Amino acid sequence: MKDIKDLDLKELEEILTGWGERPFHARQIFAWVYKKGVTDFDVMSDLPSDLRLRLKGNFYILSLNLIKRIKSYDGTEKFLFELKDNNSIEAVIIPTEKRITGCISTQVGCKFACRFCASGMLGFKRNLTNPEMLEEVLYLKNNSLGKKLTHIVFMGIGEPLDNYDNVVKAIRIINSPHTFNIGARRITISTSGIIPAIKKLSGEGLQIELSVSLHAADDNIRSRLMPVNKIYPLKDLITACREYISKTNRQLTFEYVLIKDINSGLQNALKLSKILMSLNCKVNLIPCNIIKELKAQPPEKSEILLFRDYLLKSGINVTLRRPRGEDIEAACGQLRLHYEKE
Ligand code: SF4
Repeated sequence: MKDIKDLDLKELEEILTGWGERPFHARQIFAWVYKKGVTDFDVMSDLPSDLRLRLKGNFYILSLNLIKRIKSYDGTEKFLFELKDNNSIEAVIIPTEKRITGCISTQVGCKFACRFCASGMLGFKRNLTNPEMLEEVLYLKNNSLGKKLTHIVFMGIGEPLDNYDNVVKAIRIINSPHTFNIGARRITISTSGIIPAIKKLSGEGLQIELSVSLHAADDNIRSRLMPVNKIYPLKDLITACREYISKTNRQLTFEYVLIKDINSGLQNALKLSKILMSLNCKVNLIPCNIIKELKAQPPEKSEILLFRDYLLKSGINVTLRRPRGEDIEAACGQLRLHYEKE
């Protein structure tokens, strides 16, 4: 028995054909699962009854168990789910004027232990399956305040490129007109900089957005903040990013979380502008959320603006983001961290 969401449309059509059934039933099944959110084959009234019986004997349709749902004053809404094996994960809805973004987790915990992130604090347990990630999207779609879910970001708990095959398959399914029909350019993978996976991704032919968490412009600070830098140092990472941009012809985004007294001074802005010079990229500056466990604090507003203005003057495309959901612990992994510690 496996979850039917483990299959893409072509795989399901092949199974149906092998059973002597008409392949178009696959589209009907996808419509029930992804568009109507049905979790019981018996409800699929336009399928022949013997096919429903056979589907029930071979597949199940997973649904997530919601443990907690909290909403921020800024509209950001966070969901904590329990999985079949009692592990927990988080997903977030982030509404803005023009878009409704779903942020989903890709792993239970994380191996990479970035210093500013709560997700790595409980260690790594396992990869999420493709159906578990699709179920997160389905849940967010059905709970997106009556509005259409327009964007998906793989920025929740876990390093997406450390769960490469499942994430790429989930993206192809999310992108399908028979499921969520969310355009590839509205899907973002955020990575801490796993170089071999960035190279592999550049050959997938996906028009998705890639966002690389940089957070420092020299190896000393970056290795302190992100231990992954000791395996994939900055110089090699920037080279891999340059190759990715040239192979995919896509602009790349660098995320830079500003943390007081660590990576925020003007000398850091100077180093950053040097390493990004001549790259087709943009930089998202994000003042860090306060995480009590890590004693991380955002810099003063004046320092943040100085940093941004220096990059702008250097010809770098910069966006200053406000942290979302500060009052509901919306930084990656914070809710799960507190739930699992309770
Ligand atoms: S920022 Fe991403 S890669 Fe780093 S510990 Fe958190 S989830 Fe893992």
